[in-house]
Amino acid sequence: MVAVRKAASTAQGTTTTQVAIIGAGPAGLMLSHLLHRAGIASIVLESRSRAYIEGRVRAGVLEQGTADLLQEAGVGERMRREGLVHHGIELRFDGQAHRIDLTGLTGGRSITVYGQQEVVKDLVQARLDAGGDIRFECGEVAVHGFDGRAPRVTAHGNGQALDIACDFIAGCDGFHGVSRPSIPREALHVHERAYPFAWLGILAAAAPSREELVYAHHERGFALFSMRSRSLTRLYLQVPPDEDVAAWPDDRIWDELDARFEGGDGWRPARGEVLEKSVTGMRSFVAEPMRHGRLFLAGDAAHIVPPTGAKGLNLAMADVRVLAAAFAEHYRGGGEAALDAYSATCLKRVWRAEHFSWWMTAMLHRFPEGDSFHRRLQHAQLEYVVSSRAAATSLAENYVGLPGMR
Ligand SMILES: Cc1cc2nc3c(=O)[nH]c(=O)nc-3n(C[C@H](O)[C@H](O)[C@H](O)COP(=O)(O)OP(=O)(O)OC[C@H]3O[C@@H](n4cnc5c(N)ncnc54)[C@H](O)[C@@H]3O)c2cc1C
Repeated sequence: MVAVRKAASTAQGTTTTQVAIIGAGPAGLMLSHLLHRAGIASIVLESRSRAYIEGRVRAGVLEQGTADLLQEAGVGERMRREGLVHHGIELRFDGQAHRIDLTGLTGGRSITVYGQQEVVKDLVQARLDAGGDIRFECGEVAVHGFDGRAPRVTAHGNGQALDIACDFIAGCDGFHGVSRPSIPREALHVHERAYPFAWLGILAAAAPSREELVYAHHERGFALFSMRSRSLTRLYLQVPPDEDVAAWPDDRIWDELDARFEGGDGWRPARGEVLEKSVTGMRSFVAEPMRHGRLFLAGDAAHIVPPTGAKGLNLAMADVRVLAAAFAEHYRGGGEAALDAYSATCLKRVWRAEHFSWWMTAMLHRFPEGDSFHRRLQHAQLEYVVSSRAAATSLAENYVGLPGMR
């Protein structure tokens, strides 16, 4: 590791840093951590409190490359102890269960189940232990001057006005942040697909009753069994978009899950107290390029995938790995070539993941407008995936993450 240049405050109350990072999600925190290891100073501005971001339950499947990155970066110790390494997933349809051997089909690769909120906790702790600068509960965050050579970020935090002068801004503030909307509309090409369904997700205090994730395609709709730890089960049901959570009392959810997971073996997810319940819309979205002047977008700020392929968190990590390396090359005197290549490098992986996530979503969900022809095609695809080694390998290598696209 290299000594990090500390942030400095000028007489006018302006703080200077090298990279101002908007958002303390996985992308922003990991970027700040990787920059620190390369001797590059950053300040992270987050609109929420530390407790809020550390308790926010979202993704939980880490690709092999993401787990490796956490280890290599020195923040994988708890994940190694507490994460659950999985070597397969199960597909259920037509009342039968079929296992996809992820590890056997990919030359030994696997996934690790470790909650996103745990990744966030580990990264916040690592940054604070190293004296990192994270400003929580910032309001009115705004980005300025990134078209020229003197970008600035302004905000309010701790009852004070913040004014940060920096070399670059990293917009890691998720889909609803300020960074992407600050770029002139005509400078971005936006690709978008909305899906005619949403996911009702619950977190239950129940030890997982299956060792691997179970994806179910059923005439009543899609369902997913997953877990966040040895004592927490995470389950999802396909529901209409904008479904009211109040329409789903706990018993209705459990009964519906039982119906959709029927697989001829009598297995049912173990029930437990429902700790959290929410409905999330499904969308595919890419804004390109992922850079405008000295403002770089990373993670959900630039792209969204439907969660069926478990790619959102992994894409965010892959982006900032590329971005941190490009900043490091720049500050080592290597020029702008890697920064110039950032967007194109990331978009290759992003579009592969967009396709995979769309493909998994299309194969597994019940489409309200789908006629019998559409349903027969879905069925033919599912049969192919569970009976052809080539088709199963394609699913498996995308699911664990393509090695050449780390
Ligand atoms: C409700 C939900 C459920 C999900 N479930 C799954 C799942 O089950 N499986 C899966 O694979 N993926 C899931 N995802 C996707 C995955 O969680 C994201 O892809 C991942 O969080 C991306 O990380 P990120 O750092 O880019 O963005 P985020 O995690 O969104 O982080 C952005 C950060 O920026 C902050 N911020 C926003 N606006 C501002 C602002 N103006 N100023 C300062 N800070 C700001 C936010 O508070 C947040 O902390 C889910 C996403 C959502 C929203």
